[in-house]
Amino acid sequence: MTDTLRDPATSSDIRRYQHFIDGKPGSGSGEVIARYSPVSGQVVAEYAAGTEADIDAAVLAARNAFNSGVWSDLPGLARGRALNRLASVLRNHVDELIALDAAEVGTPQRVARGPVEAGIGQIDFAASLASTLHGEIHTNLGPDFTGLLVREPLGVVGLIVPWNFPTLILCQKLGYALAAGCTAVVKPSEFTSGSAVRVAELALEAGIPEGVVNVVTGYGNPVGQRLAEHPDVDLVSFTGSTATGQRVLESSKSNLKRVSLELGGKAAQIVFADADLDDAVEGVLFAAIHNQGECCVAGARLLVEDSVADEFLDRLAKRAGDLRLGGPDDEADLGALIHPDHMRKVLDYINVGVQEGASIRAGGGQLDHPEYAQGCFVQPTILDNVTPTDRVFQEEIFGPVVTVTRFSGADEAIELANVVEYGLGNTVWTKNIDKALTVTRRLHSGTVWVNTTIDGSPQLTFGGYKASGYGREMGKAGFEEYTQIKTIQIRTGTRVGKFGLLS
Ligand code: NAD
Repeated sequence: MTDTLRDPATSSDIRRYQHFIDGKPGSGSGEVIARYSPVSGQVVAEYAAGTEADIDAAVLAARNAFNSGVWSDLPGLARGRALNRLASVLRNHVDELIALDAAEVGTPQRVARGPVEAGIGQIDFAASLASTLHGEIHTNLGPDFTGLLVREPLGVVGLIVPWNFPTLILCQKLGYALAAGCTAVVKPSEFTSGSAVRVAELALEAGIPEGVVNVVTGYGNPVGQRLAEHPDVDLVSFTGSTATGQRVLESSKSNLKRVSLELGGKAAQIVFADADLDDAVEGVLFAAIHNQGECCVAGARLLVEDSVADEFLDRLAKRAGDLRLGGPDDEADLGALIHPDHMRKVLDYINVGVQEGASIRAGGGQLDHPEYAQGCFVQPTILDNVTPTDRVFQEEIFGPVVTVTRFSGADEAIELANVVEYGLGNTVWTKNIDKALTVTRRLHSGTVWVNTTIDGSPQLTFGGYKASGYGREMGKAGFEEYTQIKTIQIRTGTRVGKFGLLS
Protein backbone atom coordinates (compact mmCIF):
# COMPACT_ATOMS: atom_id res chain seq x y z
CA MET A 1 0.00 0.00 0.00
CA THR A 2 1.34 3.44 -0.85
CA ASP A 3 0.16 6.14 1.46
CA THR A 4 0.72 9.73 0.37
CA LEU A 5 0.06 12.19 3.16
CA ARG A 6 -0.36 15.92 2.95
CA ASP A 7 1.61 18.11 5.29
CA PRO A 8 -0.52 17.99 8.43
CA ALA A 9 0.35 21.61 9.06
CA THR A 10 -2.07 22.44 6.25
CA SER A 11 -4.58 19.64 6.92
CA SER A 12 -4.68 20.14 10.73
CA ASP A 13 -3.96 16.44 11.16
CA ILE A 14 -1.78 15.67 14.20
CA ARG A 15 -0.14 12.25 14.19
CA ARG A 16 0.33 10.62 17.58
CA TYR A 17 3.11 8.16 18.35
CA GLN A 18 3.69 5.86 21.27
CA HIS A 19 6.80 3.88 22.15
CA PHE A 20 7.18 0.53 20.42
CA ILE A 21 8.43 -2.07 22.88
CA ASP A 22 8.39 -5.85 22.48
CA GLY A 23 6.19 -5.62 19.40
CA LYS A 24 3.53 -3.44 21.00
CA PRO A 25 2.76 0.28 21.29
CA GLY A 26 2.99 1.74 24.79
CA SER A 27 2.31 5.21 26.10
CA GLY A 28 4.60 4.99 29.15
CA SER A 29 3.91 7.78 31.64
CA GLY A 30 1.25 9.34 29.41
CA GLU A 31 3.26 12.59 29.07
CA VAL A 32 3.69 13.77 25.49
CA ILE A 33 6.01 16.01 23.47
CA ALA A 34 4.31 18.24 20.90
CA ARG A 35 6.19 18.76 17.65
CA TYR A 36 5.53 22.21 16.21
CA SER A 37 6.17 22.53 12.49
CA PRO A 38 8.97 25.05 11.92
CA VAL A 39 7.13 25.99 8.73
CA SER A 40 3.60 26.68 9.97
CA GLY A 41 4.09 26.84 13.74
CA GLN A 42 1.25 24.30 14.15
CA VAL A 43 1.51 20.98 15.97
CA VAL A 44 2.16 18.22 13.43
CA ALA A 45 2.92 15.30 15.76
CA GLU A 46 2.91 14.19 19.36
CA TYR A 47 5.37 11.68 20.77
CA ALA A 48 5.36 9.87 24.10
CA ALA A 49 7.79 11.57 26.48
CA GLY A 50 9.80 8.54 27.56
CA THR A 51 11.27 7.88 30.98
CA GLU A 52 14.14 5.79 32.29
CA ALA A 53 11.58 3.06 33.05
CA ASP A 54 10.59 2.98 29.37
CA ILE A 55 14.22 2.50 28.36
CA ASP A 56 14.61 -0.25 30.98
CA ALA A 57 11.55 -2.03 29.56
CA ALA A 58 12.83 -1.71 25.99
CA VAL A 59 16.32 -2.96 26.89
CA LEU A 60 14.77 -5.94 28.71
CA ALA A 61 12.65 -6.76 25.65
CA ALA A 62 15.71 -6.50 23.40
CA ARG A 63 17.79 -8.63 25.80
CA ASN A 64 15.12 -11.33 26.02
CA ALA A 65 14.77 -11.38 22.24
CA PHE A 66 18.55 -11.61 21.85
CA ASN A 67 19.00 -14.37 24.43
CA SER A 68 16.11 -16.39 23.03
CA GLY A 69 18.02 -16.71 19.76
CA VAL A 70 14.83 -15.95 17.82
CA TRP A 71 16.87 -13.53 15.67
CA SER A 72 20.57 -14.01 16.45
CA ASP A 73 20.45 -17.79 15.93
CA LEU A 74 18.76 -17.56 12.54
CA PRO A 75 21.05 -18.50 9.66
CA GLY A 76 22.40 -15.37 7.98
CA LEU A 77 20.43 -16.18 4.85
CA ALA A 78 17.18 -16.13 6.84
CA ARG A 79 18.04 -12.78 8.45
CA GLY A 80 18.89 -11.47 4.99
CA ARG A 81 15.51 -12.62 3.65
CA ALA A 82 13.73 -10.86 6.52
CA LEU A 83 15.68 -7.66 5.83
CA ASN A 84 14.79 -7.90 2.15
CA ARG A 85 11.14 -8.13 3.18
CA LEU A 86 11.64 -5.08 5.41
CA ALA A 87 13.13 -3.11 2.50
CA SER A 88 10.17 -4.10 0.38
CA VAL A 89 7.60 -3.08 3.02
CA LEU A 90 9.41 0.23 3.57
CA ARG A 91 9.38 0.82 -0.18
CA ASN A 92 5.61 0.31 -0.19
CA HIS A 93 5.43 3.06 2.44
CA VAL A 94 8.05 5.34 0.98
CA ASP A 95 5.70 8.24 0.33
CA GLU A 96 4.36 8.02 3.86
CA LEU A 97 7.90 8.08 5.33
CA ILE A 98 8.88 11.02 3.12
CA ALA A 99 5.79 12.94 4.23
CA LEU A 100 6.49 12.22 7.91
CA ASP A 101 10.12 13.28 7.74
CA ALA A 102 9.34 16.37 5.64
CA ALA A 103 6.59 17.56 8.00
CA GLU A 104 8.62 17.00 11.15
CA VAL A 105 11.98 18.27 9.83
CA GLY A 106 10.33 21.20 8.02
CA THR A 107 11.91 20.37 4.68
CA PRO A 108 10.25 20.05 1.25
CA GLN A 109 9.18 16.52 0.40
CA ARG A 110 11.24 16.73 -2.80
CA VAL A 111 14.33 17.27 -0.60
CA ALA A 112 13.37 14.51 1.86
CA ARG A 113 12.79 11.92 -0.91
CA GLY A 114 16.43 11.14 -1.78
CA PRO A 115 17.58 10.49 1.80
CA VAL A 116 14.55 8.31 2.62
CA GLU A 117 15.07 6.23 -0.53
CA ALA A 118 18.78 5.98 0.30
CA GLY A 119 17.84 4.72 3.77
CA ILE A 120 15.82 1.91 2.26
CA GLY A 121 18.80 1.13 0.02
CA GLN A 122 20.87 0.70 3.19
CA ILE A 123 18.48 -2.06 4.30
CA ASP A 124 18.82 -3.76 0.88
CA PHE A 125 22.60 -3.78 1.18
CA ALA A 126 22.58 -4.84 4.83
CA ALA A 127 20.36 -7.79 3.79
CA SER A 128 23.04 -8.86 1.32
CA LEU A 129 25.69 -8.80 4.06
CA ALA A 130 23.78 -10.88 6.62
CA SER A 131 24.89 -14.20 5.14
CA THR A 132 28.51 -13.11 4.67
CA LEU A 133 29.35 -13.01 8.37
CA HIS A 134 32.15 -15.50 8.91
CA GLY A 135 35.35 -15.99 10.80
CA GLU A 136 38.80 -17.44 10.18
CA ILE A 137 40.33 -20.85 10.66
CA HIS A 138 44.04 -21.20 11.56
CA THR A 139 45.71 -24.53 10.79
CA ASN A 140 49.27 -23.21 10.78
CA LEU A 141 49.79 -23.30 14.56
CA GLY A 142 51.58 -26.65 14.68
CA PRO A 143 50.16 -30.14 14.18
CA ASP A 144 48.32 -30.27 17.52
CA PHE A 145 46.33 -27.08 17.24
CA THR A 146 43.43 -25.62 15.37
CA GLY A 147 42.42 -22.00 15.96
CA LEU A 148 39.07 -20.48 15.12
CA LEU A 149 38.16 -16.81 15.08
CA VAL A 150 34.37 -16.63 15.29
CA ARG A 151 32.47 -13.41 14.62
CA GLU A 152 29.43 -13.08 16.85
CA PRO A 153 26.74 -10.41 17.14
CA LEU A 154 27.46 -7.92 19.92
CA GLY A 155 24.06 -8.28 21.59
CA VAL A 156 21.72 -5.42 22.50
CA VAL A 157 22.56 -2.15 20.77
CA GLY A 158 21.28 1.37 21.47
CA LEU A 159 20.83 3.54 18.38
CA ILE A 160 20.61 7.29 19.06
CA VAL A 161 19.50 9.29 16.04
CA PRO A 162 19.46 13.07 15.29
CA TRP A 163 16.74 15.09 13.57
CA ASN A 164 18.22 16.06 10.24
CA PHE A 165 17.68 12.83 8.24
CA PRO A 166 15.50 10.70 10.51
CA THR A 167 14.81 7.69 8.25
CA LEU A 168 18.20 7.62 6.56
CA ILE A 169 20.30 7.73 9.71
CA LEU A 170 18.09 5.19 11.46
CA CYS A 171 18.39 2.76 8.52
CA GLN A 172 22.15 3.16 8.22
CA LYS A 173 22.44 1.90 11.78
CA LEU A 174 19.51 -0.50 12.14
CA GLY A 175 20.03 -2.45 8.91
CA TYR A 176 23.61 -3.42 9.78
CA ALA A 177 22.83 -4.13 13.45
CA LEU A 178 20.04 -6.50 12.46
CA ALA A 179 22.09 -8.12 9.71
CA ALA A 180 24.74 -8.97 12.31
CA GLY A 181 22.11 -10.60 14.57
CA CYS A 182 21.83 -7.85 17.21
CA THR A 183 18.61 -6.59 18.74
CA ALA A 184 18.04 -2.85 19.07
CA VAL A 185 16.59 -0.04 21.15
CA VAL A 186 16.19 3.10 19.05
CA LYS A 187 16.06 6.60 20.51
CA PRO A 188 15.02 9.06 17.78
CA SER A 189 15.24 12.83 18.12
CA GLU A 190 12.51 14.50 20.15
CA PHE A 191 11.85 16.69 17.08
CA THR A 192 11.43 13.91 14.50
CA SER A 193 10.36 10.60 16.03
CA GLY A 194 7.52 9.59 13.70
CA SER A 195 9.40 7.60 11.09
CA ALA A 196 11.35 5.57 13.69
CA VAL A 197 8.11 4.33 15.25
CA ARG A 198 6.74 3.51 11.79
CA VAL A 199 9.92 1.63 10.78
CA ALA A 200 9.65 -0.49 13.95
CA GLU A 201 5.98 -1.28 13.25
CA LEU A 202 6.82 -2.15 9.64
CA ALA A 203 9.70 -4.38 10.76
CA LEU A 204 7.19 -6.47 12.69
CA GLU A 205 4.94 -6.55 9.63
CA ALA A 206 7.93 -7.78 7.61
CA GLY A 207 8.30 -10.73 9.99
CA ILE A 208 11.14 -9.50 12.20
CA PRO A 209 10.22 -10.94 15.62
CA GLU A 210 8.85 -8.99 18.58
CA GLY A 211 11.49 -7.42 20.79
CA VAL A 212 14.12 -7.23 18.02
CA VAL A 213 13.37 -3.59 17.14
CA ASN A 214 12.19 -1.34 19.98
CA VAL A 215 11.72 2.43 19.96
CA VAL A 216 11.51 4.79 22.92
CA THR A 217 10.69 8.41 22.06
CA GLY A 218 11.57 11.32 24.31
CA TYR A 219 14.20 13.85 25.27
CA GLY A 220 17.95 13.28 25.29
CA ASN A 221 17.81 13.45 29.05
CA PRO A 222 16.46 11.12 30.43
CA VAL A 223 15.85 8.77 27.47
CA GLY A 224 19.09 8.99 25.48
CA GLN A 225 21.17 9.28 28.62
CA ARG A 226 19.64 6.17 30.22
CA LEU A 227 20.20 4.21 27.02
CA ALA A 228 23.85 5.29 26.89
CA GLU A 229 24.49 4.37 30.53
CA HIS A 230 22.32 1.23 30.68
CA PRO A 231 24.35 -1.67 32.08
CA ASP A 232 22.73 -4.23 29.78
CA VAL A 233 23.42 -2.44 26.49
CA ASP A 234 26.50 -3.71 24.63
CA LEU A 235 27.04 -0.86 22.17
CA VAL A 236 25.70 2.63 21.61
CA SER A 237 25.82 3.97 18.09
CA PHE A 238 25.30 7.71 18.33
CA THR A 239 24.85 10.34 15.64
CA GLY A 240 24.57 13.94 16.75
CA SER A 241 26.61 16.89 17.90
CA THR A 242 30.15 16.59 19.22
CA ALA A 243 29.08 18.03 22.60
CA THR A 244 26.37 15.38 23.09
CA GLY A 245 28.74 12.69 21.81
CA GLN A 246 31.10 13.55 24.65
CA ARG A 247 28.23 13.11 27.14
CA VAL A 248 27.34 9.76 25.58
CA LEU A 249 30.93 8.64 25.96
CA GLU A 250 30.84 9.65 29.63
CA SER A 251 27.59 7.70 30.21
CA SER A 252 28.93 4.63 28.43
CA LYS A 253 31.65 4.15 31.06
CA SER A 254 29.15 2.46 33.40
CA ASN A 255 29.69 -0.93 31.77
CA LEU A 256 32.46 -0.04 29.28
CA LYS A 257 30.06 -0.59 26.42
CA ARG A 258 31.34 0.02 22.93
CA VAL A 259 30.59 3.42 21.46
CA SER A 260 30.42 4.54 17.87
CA LEU A 261 30.26 8.31 17.38
CA GLU A 262 29.16 10.07 14.19
CA LEU A 263 29.52 13.73 15.10
CA GLY A 264 29.61 17.22 13.66
CA GLY A 265 31.49 18.53 10.65
CA LYS A 266 32.80 21.64 8.93
CA ALA A 267 33.44 20.38 5.42
CA ALA A 268 35.50 22.27 2.87
CA GLN A 269 34.65 22.59 -0.81
CA ILE A 270 38.00 23.14 -2.51
CA VAL A 271 37.62 24.64 -5.98
CA PHE A 272 40.77 24.74 -8.10
CA ALA A 273 41.03 27.05 -11.10
CA ASP A 274 41.20 24.02 -13.42
CA ALA A 275 37.82 22.64 -12.27
CA ASP A 276 34.78 22.40 -14.51
CA LEU A 277 33.36 25.59 -13.05
CA ASP A 278 29.78 24.97 -14.26
CA ASP A 279 29.78 21.70 -12.38
CA ALA A 280 31.55 23.14 -9.34
CA VAL A 281 29.08 26.03 -8.96
CA GLU A 282 26.16 23.59 -8.88
CA GLY A 283 27.98 21.19 -6.54
CA VAL A 284 29.08 23.91 -4.11
CA LEU A 285 25.55 25.34 -4.08
CA PHE A 286 23.99 21.94 -3.44
CA ALA A 287 26.45 21.12 -0.66
CA ALA A 288 25.74 24.45 1.05
CA ILE A 289 21.96 24.31 0.99
CA HIS A 290 20.98 20.62 0.87
CA ASN A 291 18.45 20.05 3.66
CA GLN A 292 18.83 23.83 4.32
CA GLY A 293 22.43 23.23 5.41
CA GLU A 294 21.34 20.95 8.25
CA CYS A 295 23.69 18.25 7.08
CA CYS A 296 26.80 16.93 8.85
CA VAL A 297 28.79 17.08 5.58
CA ALA A 298 27.32 20.40 4.43
CA GLY A 299 29.86 22.29 2.33
CA ALA A 300 30.11 25.02 4.93
CA ARG A 301 33.49 26.40 3.82
CA LEU A 302 34.20 27.30 0.21
CA LEU A 303 37.94 27.47 -0.48
CA VAL A 304 38.40 28.88 -3.96
CA GLU A 305 41.61 29.44 -5.93
CA ASP A 306 42.14 33.18 -6.17
CA SER A 307 42.50 33.35 -9.98
CA VAL A 308 38.85 32.26 -10.46
CA ALA A 309 37.39 33.43 -7.16
CA ASP A 310 35.58 36.57 -8.32
CA GLU A 311 33.97 34.91 -11.32
CA PHE A 312 33.02 31.85 -9.27
CA LEU A 313 31.45 33.93 -6.53
CA ASP A 314 29.44 36.04 -8.96
CA ARG A 315 27.93 32.89 -10.42
CA LEU A 316 27.35 31.27 -7.04
CA ALA A 317 25.65 34.37 -5.63
CA LYS A 318 23.37 34.59 -8.66
CA ARG A 319 22.34 30.93 -8.29
CA ALA A 320 21.78 31.36 -4.53
CA GLY A 321 19.44 34.26 -5.27
CA ASP A 322 17.31 32.00 -7.52
CA LEU A 323 16.59 29.44 -4.79
CA ARG A 324 13.03 28.94 -3.53
CA LEU A 325 12.24 28.39 0.14
CA GLY A 326 9.02 26.64 1.10
CA GLY A 327 7.12 24.06 3.07
CA PRO A 328 6.79 20.29 2.78
CA ASP A 329 4.26 20.38 -0.06
CA ASP A 330 5.93 23.16 -2.04
CA GLU A 331 8.17 22.96 -5.10
CA ALA A 332 10.99 24.46 -3.08
CA ASP A 333 14.76 23.96 -2.92
CA LEU A 334 15.09 24.33 0.82
CA GLY A 335 12.81 24.49 3.84
CA ALA A 336 12.73 25.88 7.35
CA LEU A 337 15.33 25.33 10.07
CA ILE A 338 14.41 22.76 12.70
CA HIS A 339 13.15 25.14 15.41
CA PRO A 340 13.19 28.84 16.33
CA ASP A 341 16.17 28.54 18.73
CA HIS A 342 18.25 26.93 16.01
CA MET A 343 17.23 29.65 13.55
CA ARG A 344 18.34 32.32 16.04
CA LYS A 345 21.66 30.52 16.48
CA VAL A 346 22.23 30.49 12.71
CA LEU A 347 21.28 34.18 12.42
CA ASP A 348 23.64 35.00 15.31
CA TYR A 349 26.46 33.26 13.44
CA ILE A 350 25.79 35.43 10.39
CA ASN A 351 26.10 38.53 12.61
CA VAL A 352 29.27 37.18 14.21
CA GLY A 353 30.72 36.63 10.74
CA VAL A 354 29.99 40.23 9.75
CA GLN A 355 31.49 41.53 13.00
CA GLU A 356 34.59 39.46 12.27
CA GLY A 357 34.95 41.25 8.94
CA ALA A 358 33.03 39.09 6.46
CA SER A 359 31.04 40.69 3.68
CA ILE A 360 27.67 39.29 2.65
CA ARG A 361 27.54 38.22 -1.01
CA ALA A 362 24.05 36.67 -0.84
CA GLY A 363 21.26 36.34 1.69
CA GLY A 364 22.25 37.41 5.17
CA GLY A 365 19.10 37.13 7.25
CA GLN A 366 15.73 35.62 8.03
CA LEU A 367 13.24 35.33 5.20
CA ASP A 368 9.78 36.73 5.92
CA HIS A 369 7.98 34.09 3.93
CA PRO A 370 4.79 35.39 2.29
CA GLU A 371 2.86 32.19 3.09
CA TYR A 372 4.33 31.13 6.42
CA ALA A 373 4.42 33.94 8.95
CA GLN A 374 5.78 31.60 11.67
CA GLY A 375 8.37 29.97 9.40
CA CYS A 376 11.97 29.52 10.53
CA PHE A 377 13.41 30.40 7.12
CA VAL A 378 16.96 31.68 6.68
CA GLN A 379 18.10 32.95 3.29
CA PRO A 380 20.91 31.02 1.62
CA THR A 381 23.86 33.11 2.73
CA ILE A 382 27.38 33.59 1.35
CA LEU A 383 29.92 35.19 3.70
CA ASP A 384 32.96 36.39 1.75
CA ASN A 385 36.46 37.31 3.00
CA VAL A 386 36.42 34.89 5.92
CA THR A 387 39.75 34.08 7.55
CA PRO A 388 40.75 30.78 9.18
CA THR A 389 40.69 32.14 12.72
CA ASP A 390 37.11 33.43 12.41
CA ARG A 391 34.49 31.58 14.42
CA VAL A 392 32.32 31.15 11.32
CA PHE A 393 35.24 29.33 9.68
CA GLN A 394 35.86 27.05 12.66
CA GLU A 395 32.46 26.27 14.22
CA GLU A 396 29.58 24.18 12.88
CA ILE A 397 26.69 26.51 11.95
CA PHE A 398 24.29 23.85 10.61
CA GLY A 399 22.32 26.20 8.38
CA PRO A 400 22.38 27.48 4.77
CA VAL A 401 25.52 29.54 5.30
CA VAL A 402 28.77 29.14 3.37
CA THR A 403 31.96 31.01 4.17
CA VAL A 404 34.43 31.95 1.42
CA THR A 405 38.21 31.97 1.73
CA ARG A 406 40.61 32.36 -1.18
CA PHE A 407 43.80 30.33 -1.61
CA SER A 408 46.77 30.14 -3.91
CA GLY A 409 47.95 26.61 -4.78
CA ALA A 410 47.31 23.14 -3.39
CA ASP A 411 49.45 23.45 -0.25
CA GLU A 412 47.51 26.42 1.02
CA ALA A 413 44.17 24.77 0.17
CA ILE A 414 45.11 21.66 2.16
CA GLU A 415 46.30 23.69 5.12
CA LEU A 416 43.06 25.68 5.19
CA ALA A 417 40.91 22.57 4.86
CA ASN A 418 42.70 20.79 7.71
CA VAL A 419 42.91 23.67 10.19
CA VAL A 420 39.49 22.96 11.78
CA GLU A 421 38.85 20.49 14.62
CA TYR A 422 36.37 18.47 12.52
CA GLY A 423 37.20 15.87 9.88
CA LEU A 424 34.08 14.39 8.33
CA GLY A 425 33.85 15.04 4.58
CA ASN A 426 35.69 17.35 2.18
CA THR A 427 35.29 17.85 -1.56
CA VAL A 428 37.85 18.62 -4.26
CA TRP A 429 36.93 20.15 -7.62
CA THR A 430 39.65 19.80 -10.28
CA LYS A 431 40.09 18.15 -13.67
CA ASN A 432 43.72 17.31 -12.87
CA ILE A 433 43.80 13.72 -11.61
CA ASP A 434 47.33 14.02 -10.16
CA LYS A 435 46.27 17.02 -8.12
CA ALA A 436 43.03 15.34 -7.06
CA LEU A 437 44.80 12.25 -5.74
CA THR A 438 47.58 14.20 -4.02
CA VAL A 439 45.15 16.50 -2.27
CA THR A 440 42.70 13.75 -1.22
CA ARG A 441 45.52 11.81 0.44
CA ARG A 442 46.52 14.84 2.52
CA LEU A 443 43.05 15.84 3.72
CA HIS A 444 42.21 14.85 7.29
CA SER A 445 38.65 13.60 6.89
CA GLY A 446 36.83 10.29 6.80
CA THR A 447 35.44 10.97 3.32
CA VAL A 448 36.76 12.97 0.37
CA TRP A 449 34.66 13.52 -2.73
CA VAL A 450 36.21 14.46 -6.06
CA ASN A 451 34.04 16.26 -8.63
CA THR A 452 30.91 15.14 -6.81
CA THR A 453 29.67 15.90 -3.33
CA ILE A 454 27.43 14.56 -0.53
CA ASP A 455 27.18 11.43 -2.60
CA GLY A 456 27.31 7.91 -1.29
CA SER A 457 26.47 4.30 -1.60
CA PRO A 458 25.86 1.70 1.11
CA GLN A 459 29.03 -0.14 0.06
CA LEU A 460 31.11 2.92 0.92
CA THR A 461 31.95 3.12 4.60
CA PHE A 462 31.35 6.47 6.28
CA GLY A 463 32.72 8.06 9.46
CA GLY A 464 34.81 10.80 10.99
CA TYR A 465 38.38 11.76 11.72
CA LYS A 466 39.28 14.04 14.64
CA ALA A 467 36.32 15.63 16.50
CA SER A 468 33.87 14.23 13.94
CA GLY A 469 33.97 10.96 15.86
CA TYR A 470 35.08 7.38 15.49
CA GLY A 471 33.60 4.09 14.55
CA ARG A 472 32.28 3.51 11.06
CA GLU A 473 28.87 3.13 9.44
CA MET A 474 27.87 1.38 6.23
CA GLY A 475 29.86 -1.02 4.12
CA LYS A 476 31.70 -4.03 5.51
CA ALA A 477 33.41 -1.99 8.24
CA GLY A 478 30.07 -0.57 9.39
CA PHE A 479 28.59 -4.06 9.52
CA GLU A 480 31.49 -5.41 11.58
CA GLU A 481 30.98 -2.67 14.20
CA TYR A 482 28.01 -4.73 15.40
CA THR A 483 30.08 -7.89 15.90
CA GLN A 484 32.79 -9.14 18.21
CA ILE A 485 35.44 -11.79 17.70
CA LYS A 486 35.72 -14.90 19.83
CA THR A 487 38.93 -16.91 19.68
CA ILE A 488 38.67 -20.69 20.06
CA GLN A 489 41.87 -22.74 20.36
CA ILE A 490 41.61 -26.53 20.17
CA ARG A 491 44.36 -29.00 21.05
CA THR A 492 43.97 -32.31 19.31
CA GLY A 493 47.43 -33.87 19.82
CA THR A 494 49.02 -35.93 22.59
CA ARG A 495 51.45 -33.46 24.18
CA VAL A 496 50.70 -34.38 27.78
CA GLY A 497 51.06 -31.58 30.37
CA LYS A 498 52.45 -28.89 28.11
CA PHE A 499 50.44 -25.68 28.29
CA GLY A 500 51.08 -22.00 27.89
CA LEU A 501 52.53 -19.90 25.14
CA LEU A 502 54.30 -22.64 23.20
CA SER A 503 55.85 -21.74 19.92
P1 NAD B 1 22.12 16.35 19.31
O1 NAD B 1 23.47 15.97 19.74
O2 NAD B 1 21.46 17.49 19.96
O3 NAD B 1 21.09 15.12 19.49
C1 NAD B 1 21.29 13.87 18.88
C2 NAD B 1 20.50 12.82 19.62
O4 NAD B 1 21.06 12.67 20.93
C3 NAD B 1 19.02 13.17 19.84
O5 NAD B 1 18.23 12.00 19.71
C4 NAD B 1 19.02 13.67 21.27
O6 NAD B 1 17.77 13.56 21.91
C5 NAD B 1 20.04 12.74 21.90
N1 NAD B 1 20.63 13.22 23.15
C6 NAD B 1 20.66 14.49 23.64
N2 NAD B 1 21.28 14.52 24.84
C7 NAD B 1 21.66 13.24 25.11
C8 NAD B 1 22.36 12.63 26.19
N3 NAD B 1 22.80 13.32 27.24
N4 NAD B 1 22.60 11.30 26.12
C9 NAD B 1 22.20 10.58 25.05
N5 NAD B 1 21.52 11.10 24.01
C10 NAD B 1 21.25 12.43 24.04
O7 NAD B 1 22.20 16.54 17.73
P2 NAD B 1 21.07 17.05 16.75
O8 NAD B 1 20.90 18.53 17.04
O9 NAD B 1 19.89 16.16 16.82
O10 NAD B 1 21.76 16.84 15.32
C11 NAD B 1 22.64 17.75 14.77
C12 NAD B 1 24.08 17.31 14.97
O11 NAD B 1 24.25 15.99 14.48
C13 NAD B 1 25.06 18.15 14.20
O12 NAD B 1 26.19 18.43 14.99
C14 NAD B 1 25.45 17.25 13.02
O13 NAD B 1 26.70 17.52 12.44
C15 NAD B 1 25.39 15.91 13.64
N6 NAD B 1 25.22 14.87 12.63
C16 NAD B 1 26.29 14.05 12.35
C17 NAD B 1 26.18 13.07 11.36
C18 NAD B 1 27.33 12.15 11.04
O14 NAD B 1 27.11 11.15 10.35
N7 NAD B 1 28.53 12.42 11.50
C19 NAD B 1 24.98 12.93 10.66
C20 NAD B 1 23.93 13.78 10.97
C21 NAD B 1 24.05 14.74 11.98
